[in-house]
Amino acid sequence: MEVRRTVQVKLDVTDEQADLLHETIDEFLWAANYVVDAAWDGEWAETRSSVLHEQTYDDVREQTRLHSNHVQSARDCAIDAMQSVVGKWSKGEYASLPTFTSRFCDYNQRNATFHNDHASLSTVDGRITADYVLPDEDRDTPHTEYLQGDEWEQTGATLHYRRGDFYLHIRTKADVETPEPDENGTVLGVDLGVKNIAVTSTGVFWSADELSHWRREYVERQKSLQECGTRWAHESVQAVGRKKTGRFEQSLHRVANELLEEAISNGCTVIAFENLTDIRDRIPKARRFHEWAFRQLTSYVSYKAEERGLSVEQVNPKNTSRRCSSCGFTDEANRPSQDTFRCQSCGYENHADYNAAKNVGYRLLRTQTGGEGGAPVGVRLNSGMLNANGLQPVPNSVRAGVHAESQQS
Ligand SMILES: [Zn+2]
Repeated sequence: MEVRRTVQVKLDVTDEQADLLHETIDEFLWAANYVVDAAWDGEWAETRSSVLHEQTYDDVREQTRLHSNHVQSARDCAIDAMQSVVGKWSKGEYASLPTFTSRFCDYNQRNATFHNDHASLSTVDGRITADYVLPDEDRDTPHTEYLQGDEWEQTGATLHYRRGDFYLHIRTKADVETPEPDENGTVLGVDLGVKNIAVTSTGVFWSADELSHWRREYVERQKSLQECGTRWAHESVQAVGRKKTGRFEQSLHRVANELLEEAISNGCTVIAFENLTDIRDRIPKARRFHEWAFRQLTSYVSYKAEERGLSVEQVNPKNTSRRCSSCGFTDEANRPSQDTFRCQSCGYENHADYNAAKNVGYRLLRTQTGGEGGAPVGVRLNSGMLNANGLQPVPNSVRAGVHAESQQS
């Protein structure tokens, strides 16, 4: 299966290179707008590529210094935009003719070459070599994976200019091996939280201590900078913000990778998360920051899971923290404290997040009961797998040395 990803990277360019890129963008936008003008005669919108090629290619080559591939890309951009306008017209909706103003231009493998840490880009006056600005600790970021991994091919990029900097949005693709979906699909349930960012139905805990520590540090720092109120302080606040985001993202990437490995090493084909809608109402201590972190984490896992042939599902979170994962009894009193789950009916007792993770997994089985084929048949626990026939212990060879119902960190 082919998987495609886009990775954004800032460029380090000299003033002369920046001038050349600006001139290239200017002429690219001019070319796209020229094609739009040619395509519209006041009554009829032409969207056929071959006709517009005939009509505009020589003119644009003559009046610009653009690489021939830029001339073609500008035309393609104009045609895409025209087609969407014509689509709206045909539905009776109002739409004005496209005008290209935002600063971008498109690259493909013929007018750009992408390397591990730099790209060579055609401009209106020959090629330039632009270095990528990569994160200092680039371990486990998309940059390392999609730009430097052997399995990923860079197929093209869009150059953007925003607030004084050039960025490449590089398109990459890879062929990934997808295992045949297992008929006996097994679910890894995941509970998300403020104290433990993630806990799996197999009993693995990822503490949120590091994230919380950084967040506190960041909030303090920002507060003291804001009190200064100077322009310098304002810029520092933004710089701290960018640095923070990078550090958090990297940490969440690491958790996502480990979560995925946990699913794969336990033979799971599906990873279940709770649906994040209204999560801040359900977890009283969750701030906007936590919601952001949960969304980042689930989207990283979804991306990485797809590449490995696993699927990610979101389940209804209702009562996952109050329901007993052992007997199904649901009551608020089952949850005497934040960390503790104690069933008032059967006496089952465990860490509350672990109990919730198992429920998230079960939820997927329950909602899919009766579904034909492909529906997961079991939830992986650290003591075995639970399916319709009850608990089946995991063979010793698979989980040797892991204590049932234990807490790892
Ligand atoms: Zn119970």
